[in-house]
Amino acid sequence: MRKRHISDGLSVLRAALLNNYGKLYIVSTPIGNLEDITLRAIRVLKEVDVIAAEDTRHSRKLLNHYSITKPMISYWSEKEKIRSEDIIEKLRSGLSIAIISDAGTPGISDPGAVLIKRAIDEGIDVVPIPGPSAAIAALSASGLSTEEFTFIGFLPPKTAQRQKRLNELALEPRTLIFYEAPHRILDTLSDMEEIFSERKAVLAKEITKMHEEILRGTISEIIDMLKTRTIAGEYVIIVEGKSKEAVSIEEALEEVKSLMKRGKGRKEAVKMVAEGYGLSKKELYDRSLG
Ligand code: SAM
Repeated sequence: MRKRHISDGLSVLRAALLNNYGKLYIVSTPIGNLEDITLRAIRVLKEVDVIAAEDTRHSRKLLNHYSITKPMISYWSEKEKIRSEDIIEKLRSGLSIAIISDAGTPGISDPGAVLIKRAIDEGIDVVPIPGPSAAIAALSASGLSTEEFTFIGFLPPKTAQRQKRLNELALEPRTLIFYEAPHRILDTLSDMEEIFSERKAVLAKEITKMHEEILRGTISEIIDMLKTRTIAGEYVIIVEGKSKEAVSIEEALEEVKSLMKRGKGRKEAVKMVAEGYGLSKKELYDRSLG
């Protein structure tokens, strides 16, 4: 099986070399301010044969600004699978293609992943042209730990599923990065306040745009600040991870109880808390019965 895998890989590579496939460039574009594009991104967008955009009308503004006049095709998310096949055909015929999304880095909470995976399977060169991404921009100015972080992206829109996901993340020690739509921001922050309690958080609004604002405080302080503001635009929420400080067995038992109240089974709750704090599962389980 493994042998077959290697020989499949080699034949894809051989075909790519012999067939002179075009390259697929993953080009990051601005998340608001049109100046946030690299010189290399502009050059690549001017040199490729075709630009595949999430939304061609949206991207036209950026391309016009930099006098880039290349044929465009669209690959919006619902049609990504079908469109990917067209794009793969073009790459196989030797055309070079750049993909761009409406903002930031393609594939990061944006379409792109399906096409990129297909291109890799075909032995087509995939070249990143790095640039902005809202997650990293927000994190860089957050003041929260950047040593280790985890990108969650969008939470489920329905309350029950969102709370379930947040519960799963309750013991995550790394800094957490979320994307959220403006009409859900207060509900999501309220759920976070309930599940993460008084942790530090940062709300980064409209980064690089005219109404850029970065709010810092505990989750409940941020909710209070939002109540006096107009909620509109784009937001990144960053929450500090669960503190790894040693906790007493009594505190750990409280967390087990609270997780069980929120629907977790005893075994699962004990496992999460014990692993989160490096405690003995058996001891915690036995004590939780008492
Ligand atoms: N691919 C993009 C990236 O690399 O950041 C993300 C695209 S995702 C569909 C859009 C979400 O990213 C928004 O709902 C918001 O959470 C976040 N976002 C994008 N631009 C932003 C900005 N200028 N300020 C704050 N958040 C932004």
